[in-house]
Amino acid sequence: MITVLSGGTGTPKLIQGIKEIYPEEEINVIVNTVENNYFSGVYVAADIDTVLYTFSNLINDETWYGIKDDTFITNERLAEIGTPELLRIGDQDRATKIQKTLLLKEHTLSEAVDIQRKNLGIKAKIIPMSDEHSEIKIETEEYGDIEFHDFLIKYQGQPTVTKVKYSEVNPSPDIIKIIQDSDKVIIGPSNPITSILPIISLKGVSEELENKKVIAVSPFIGTSPVSGPAGKFMSASGYETSSIGVAKIYESFLDTLIIDSSDDKMIEEIEKIIPNVIAANTIMKTINDKKELAKLVLNSD
Ligand code: GDP
Repeated sequence: MITVLSGGTGTPKLIQGIKEIYPEEEINVIVNTVENNYFSGVYVAADIDTVLYTFSNLINDETWYGIKDDTFITNERLAEIGTPELLRIGDQDRATKIQKTLLLKEHTLSEAVDIQRKNLGIKAKIIPMSDEHSEIKIETEEYGDIEFHDFLIKYQGQPTVTKVKYSEVNPSPDIIKIIQDSDKVIIGPSNPITSILPIISLKGVSEELENKKVIAVSPFIGTSPVSGPAGKFMSASGYETSSIGVAKIYESFLDTLIIDSSDDKMIEEIEKIIPNVIAANTIMKTINDKKELAKLVLNSD
């Protein structure tokens, strides 16, 4: 059994590879929840939905958001009647979000997601990192504290980030036990600051990871992330924007870091921080890239 720690883009790409070569019922995915919030009257747990759609082969894997070939009739109508949405939610994707919102009236988030994954025929366990509401704020030079989605969408990731702040929440009930029962924990190439740090900062998690084989894939190539704002968030949090910074964040429990082949000159430096470094192709474009990287992650110590 394995446990994967995930955000909503880099790690789901790796999961597409893992699920091709590893029994789905033996996969647990602990998913970041700090970016969850209500939008347009529905509860949006974007990273959780991306993982649900990844396992059910519904994912729009061009944007890594929502369902492929979705329509946007409700989204367009909302704009026409004068209430444009901040998040562009597709019609079928909105059904998932409405269902989750309704389930949350009587269930915890963990229970709601478990019902949804079973309805989608998913055998892997998908576990929200917390059942509690959390707040994430991006502190910027230009506008002070702004909402995470405003930073990404309204301000297009442009402001200078001085700090990333999120509230402390309790882990959801099964997390520690699931990590204990796993042979290996995989940290996919997700944003270390906004996707993974919130999970590993949960009470008891990093202590448990110290007792486990933990292998991570870096989301960086050279000094830039493959996509998104991880670089800005890493430097605002005091880390180098490269796989060296990633190794430092996971230093206390990480056994192996997979970095891109083009960064092989960093191996020596990273080996001073953590025990093992492997250089390989970490860019996941084709299903074959994803399977090859998944094989390496599953077979390395
Ligand atoms: P978010 O929740 O949408 O921010 O998604 P994640 O945190 O799961 O993933 C964002 C990270 O994925 C970014 O830092 C990217 O650099 C990384 N990423 C995206 N695609 C790839 C890829 O093909 N290879 C690697 N190594 N990293 C990737």
